[in-house]
Amino acid sequence: MEQLTEEEVKASFEPGAELWLPNFDRFEWAHRDFLSWVHPSGHLGYLVTRSPNDGCLHGVVLRRHERKPRAARLDMCSICHHVHAMGGAAMFTLTEKGSGGRRTFSNVICGDLGCSLRIRDMVTPKSFMQENIYLEAKIWRILQHLHKWLTRAKYL
Ligand SMILES: [Zn+2]
Repeated sequence: MEQLTEEEVKASFEPGAELWLPNFDRFEWAHRDFLSWVHPSGHLGYLVTRSPNDGCLHGVVLRRHERKPRAARLDMCSICHHVHAMGGAAMFTLTEKGSGGRRTFSNVICGDLGCSLRIRDMVTPKSFMQENIYLEAKIWRILQHLHKWLTRAKYL
C-alpha cells in the first residue's frame, strides 16, 4: 500500500478509539496490502485499509485474545489462509459499529496481523500447508476477506 503519514493513520480511526501507534519509519509499506499492528501489551490489534466503496481510509481497533496452547492443533488464518502449526494465531474481535458492544464478529488471524508479509514469504515459519497460487491471487483474497469482515461490522 502507499505510505501514510501518522496524521492520516490517526484520522482513519473513530474519535475516542483506544489508539496506540507504532513508529511507522520501519514499516515495509511496499509489502503491505493493509496496515496492521498489535498493541505492545497484546490485548488490542489495529487494521487500516482503504475502502473499495468510497476510497477512504478506515481504521478499526480489534480485541485480541491469545489462543490457548494445545497439542496438535492447526490454526488457519481466516484472512491470508496461512496455517499455523505451533501457535502464532490469535482470536481478534471486532465490535459492530453503532451496536454499543452488543454485536461482535471474531476471526482467527495471524497473531501479529502480519498476513501481508506471510504471503510474501518474509516471515518464518512457513505455512504448514503450502499453496500453489500466485501472489496476486493471495493479495486479492486477503483484501476480500478483510473488506467482507469490516463490511459486516459496518465499518466500510
Ligand atoms: Zn494471516
